[in-house]
Amino acid sequence: MKKLAVKDLNKFFDAISADQLLYMPLEKGGSVNYGIYSRGDKYDPTVLHTVKSVKDVFFPQCESMASFVTAGKKFEVAPIAPVDQSFTVFGVRACDVRGMEALDKVFLSDPVDSYYAARRAHGTVISVACSAPEETCFCTAFGIDPTNPGADIQAVIAGEDILFSANTEKGIALLDKVADLLSDTDDSAADDAKASIKEILNKLPLADIDLSAWGEGKTEELFDRPEWDELCKSCLGCGTCTYVCPTCQCYDIRDYKVGDKTTRYRCWDSCMYSDFTMAAHGTNRPDKKQRFRQRFMHKLVYFPDRYGMFSCVGCGRCVAKCPVSMNIVKVIKAMGGKNNG
Ligand code: SF4
Ligand code: SF4
Repeated sequence: MKKLAVKDLNKFFDAISADQLLYMPLEKGGSVNYGIYSRGDKYDPTVLHTVKSVKDVFFPQCESMASFVTAGKKFEVAPIAPVDQSFTVFGVRACDVRGMEALDKVFLSDPVDSYYAARRAHGTVISVACSAPEETCFCTAFGIDPTNPGADIQAVIAGEDILFSANTEKGIALLDKVADLLSDTDDSAADDAKASIKEILNKLPLADIDLSAWGEGKTEELFDRPEWDELCKSCLGCGTCTYVCPTCQCYDIRDYKVGDKTTRYRCWDSCMYSDFTMAAHGTNRPDKKQRFRQRFMHKLVYFPDRYGMFSCVGCGRCVAKCPVSMNIVKVIKAMGGKNNG
């Protein structure tokens, strides 16, 4: 295990970013999201969650895929190449690390999404254990340990120090690169810090929410439950829950023409929108109940059916951000998910 004084984190950031992009949670306009580090930027370890998850680094909210230029009878296609430079992402929480595993299942399965795959191949991820999980967190219900967040390197803040351990070859290489800044230490300080975090976790109201009513093979049991009628009523179909979610992966592809140049780009889309997957015959889910049910059945039943894991990671972003306080916890509880909260 390696140690660095928290006050020296900027030296660590400067060393990493000397020859590559470094993404980390940065405050801008009152919100904290992943951004590209510039010398002097400050990392605030008290911020638990970015508004948008780390998904935005590997699967950006909007990205160009190709451009087309027409000039008279000439038509030229210029594909935009996937990322080919190494980069590092710092400060990823355990829930978002698990969220990346869910995205991997989708984007790295055949047919592989080359844009996402290139970012995953070139990105080194440094996670940071959550020092102060919040009341909206329920990652532990999904078997996630926020004190051992995983990724290429995992870090935990222990008093005045931040302690790193590498989990992969990429992680070892990155710690080697900044070895001059780090000193060796044993596990005892990290263990103490993790024990304090676990005390907080044990008191969280949603930490032990019961998911046994959900999971693989539950479609028949849950699809026509009458609770959906009431649950969907308050939903505004705003899509906020899907945009902040680390595992939602739907997107739309459009062309945008200016003069002779057309850019093909893709942007996140939301199954909560009434025009989602609109086709010539209309939409597959014409009413709100169908759209609402789809989101939760997908996360809690269909994804487990297909990939053997839930595609909710208990980050609590939708719990905190839904404008009408409707969220996945209410859905889980309405159909059998009991807890102490
Ligand atoms: S559940 Fe909430 S955040 Fe999601 S679409 Fe409905 S109103 Fe918006
Ligand atoms: S459904 Fe809500 S709690 Fe679950 S991963 Fe998505 S935003 Fe987080």
